Amino acid sequence: MKCNMCNKGEMKKVKGTIEQDGIEYEAYRCGSCGEEIMNMKQLGSLAKK
Ligand SMILES: [Zn+2]
Repeated sequence: MKCNMCNKGEMKKVKGTIEQDGIEYEAYRCGSCGEEIMNMKQLGSLAKK
């Protein structure tokens, strides 16, 4: 999966934590420019809580 911001880097799956809520989430981060894309489906499930 290529980054669509810079078209150079590879998007890698990373885990992050939302500090305010302490909720873990998965995202894709570009190794080249650092662009991060969150998993929107996961955000949707968090909102239901
Ligand atoms: Zn990039």
